[in-house]
Amino acid sequence: MAKLTTGPLGPGSVIGILGGGQLGRMTALAAARLGYKVHVYCPDPSAPAKHVSNVSTTASYEDSSQLSEFARSVDVVTFEFENIPTTAIVTVSEIKPVRPHCRALEIAQDRIVEKKFLSSLGISTTPYWSVRDVNELEEALRSLNGSGVLKSARLGYDGKNQTRVSIGDQASVAWGAMNGKAGILEKWVNFDSEISVIVARSDDGTTATYDPVQNRHRRYILETTIAPAPIDPRVAEKAREIACEIAKAIDLVGVLAVEMFLTSDSELLVNEIAPRPHNSGHWTIDACSTSQFEQLVRAICGMPLGSTERHSDAEMHNLIGDAAEQWFQYLTEPGTILHLYGKSETRPGRKMGHVTRLKPIAAGNH
Ligand code: AMP
Repeated sequence: MAKLTTGPLGPGSVIGILGGGQLGRMTALAAARLGYKVHVYCPDPSAPAKHVSNVSTTASYEDSSQLSEFARSVDVVTFEFENIPTTAIVTVSEIKPVRPHCRALEIAQDRIVEKKFLSSLGISTTPYWSVRDVNELEEALRSLNGSGVLKSARLGYDGKNQTRVSIGDQASVAWGAMNGKAGILEKWVNFDSEISVIVARSDDGTTATYDPVQNRHRRYILETTIAPAPIDPRVAEKAREIACEIAKAIDLVGVLAVEMFLTSDSELLVNEIAPRPHNSGHWTIDACSTSQFEQLVRAICGMPLGSTERHSDAEMHNLIGDAAEQWFQYLTEPGTILHLYGKSETRPGRKMGHVTRLKPIAAGNH
């Protein structure tokens, strides 16, 4: 694996990003502000990150010669999309350092591996059953004793490949929705709220966490993030500790989001981890001195992490599908900050942009 041998990568260096979505776009914008150049690699020729980067490559993640050429043209590589095949990371990491390491991605790509990893750290997750076929699902449904959700183990996000199931349901019907892929049956958690924490970690082990935030989903897709989360400060502290523990255990260099369910008896169950900037951290662009995207750039380039301090309270709303068509209205609202991702095609459920609304820090929120 290639290592950073020349110390910190200063402004002028080239950051390679695998993946070209809005997370890559906002990372590229943060990198540009610090004087870095960005080379985006992804198969979609009109990907949002390509609009704002210096160089781009349009090629498949299976094309090892294009991946090698990309790696040779940059100084360090990161990824903004969880489902990049790990073979692509391996090819690139033989030539240039990839940060976070491939292992972090391997864990996050598979819900079963992820849950086992979290359990090995003594971190609580939702009760789950690994199901590889309809018989295993039948058995798991018998143990479930209530309602649950059947998810594909790999390649699922924003509610894709997820089916609600209940005791007494026909296993064969639910299994049909899985297209023969290995899955995971999770117990449905009647949580009080959903929160997440974003932690940045540099290669010397320094960590910095942002305030835990509350997330509201609609049809499994994040709709609103409230910063800070209106929760007991002791729970918030515990959530930060969990995030730091996971970051340390995967030897993170970069940023990591940890999504958790908060139960009525103040227990935190980790639902998912993502070793990349996260939708629930978009508010940090407008409400913190250093955004999650700038932290990623700093961490992977060996620069000191910035302050995660919040100068305002914030609410972030995703603009999903045709909600982004209200852009003119948002521009007229004082205190509303509009971010559009430059996607040419609007589709239901597609994240087209977001708005952040800032408020002075409320008493008791310091
Ligand atoms: P995920 O793809 O696992 O992040 O799921 C998307 C959203 O679906 C979560 O943020 C929750 O709102 C909901 N969800 C997923 N799994 C569960 C569960 N086991 N219990 C309750 N809600 C869930």
